[in-house]
Amino acid sequence: MSSYNDQSAVTDSATDSVTVLGLGPMGRALAGAFLAAGVRTTVWNRTAGRDGELVAQGAISAATAEEAVAASPLTVVCVVNYDASDAVLHRPEVTRALKGRTVVNLSADTPDRARAAGSWAAEHGIRYLDGAIMTPTPTIGTPQGVFIHSGDASLYEEHRAVLEALGGTHTHLGEEIGRAAAYDVALLDIFWTAMTGYLHAMALAKAEGITARELAPFATGIGAILPELFEEFAGDVDDGTYSGEINPITSAASTMTHVIHASEFHGIDASVMRAAEGLARRVIDEGHGADGSTRMTELLSRR
Ligand code: NDP
Repeated sequence: MSSYNDQSAVTDSATDSVTVLGLGPMGRALAGAFLAAGVRTTVWNRTAGRDGELVAQGAISAATAEEAVAASPLTVVCVVNYDASDAVLHRPEVTRALKGRTVVNLSADTPDRARAAGSWAAEHGIRYLDGAIMTPTPTIGTPQGVFIHSGDASLYEEHRAVLEALGGTHTHLGEEIGRAAAYDVALLDIFWTAMTGYLHAMALAKAEGITARELAPFATGIGAILPELFEEFAGDVDDGTYSGEINPITSAASTMTHVIHASEFHGIDASVMRAAEGLARRVIDEGHGADGSTRMTELLSRR
């Protein structure tokens, strides 16, 4: 076992090394990418036996989390959420071993949990960066991977080269520690509401005798019109214009109602679309029916 005396700042040595805590599908992908890039990689997972393939590729298997974090100046954590990362990092022997070292927490959770983790790390002399991964496991180690980071800029610079061994694009979003998680939850909001729409649409199509495969090329067409709308709507929201010239919210609400009626005709739960239509109706009831659907963002932003 490596020794891990308290250190004021443990920096990357000439031969970069990293520890990965958490060997679910994403943790294994991260560790595999580090190894492929020639980074000395120590791994640990709560449940033993998940590191076989990584060890075959050259990873060092640590018996305990404290042994794992003591092996490298930089520990990348990738577990299900911050309850899980706290369960590992807050164990006194692990916290002690981390003193003076850097943690990059790439587990997904909320901005307030990221801020709490940053405060905890500062209290314990642990150098801390937060981050999130915006693309699935097959993209890790390829140019398609997307990583976002937040926290102290000089600390990020110090570890940037090792993090970039994961491939893809890495963006430091600012020093405010919760910023990466804030982007993450906003982007997950898009992903899961969009995917729930698609999952629902396949059920509705099936009820009408259309297979999911028959629908798919047309669904892809709907997906293809979204990027331009994202840019256009962003300008509308930031400028407060809420233009309804091309598609007023009265028209949008009408088409949402068709989806609700067609679904409920087949006994299919339409609660997701009912929620969306409810927001559109509130905008119309307030007298903004001629505006675009971006008015919904303004409505939701009122607290
Ligand atoms: P999971 O989200 O299922 O996380 C599994 C990992 O969490 C395992 O290592 C598991 O350990 C660990 N874990 C769960 N509870 C605890 C606990 N109480 N204490 C210690 N460890 C615990 O799988 P992924 O690897 O896919 O995801 C990891 C993170 O990456 C998540 O935050 C996810 O949102 C994010 N992510 C994943 C993507 C993907 O494509 N998979 C894409 C983008 C982000 P054990 O084996 O012992 O159960």
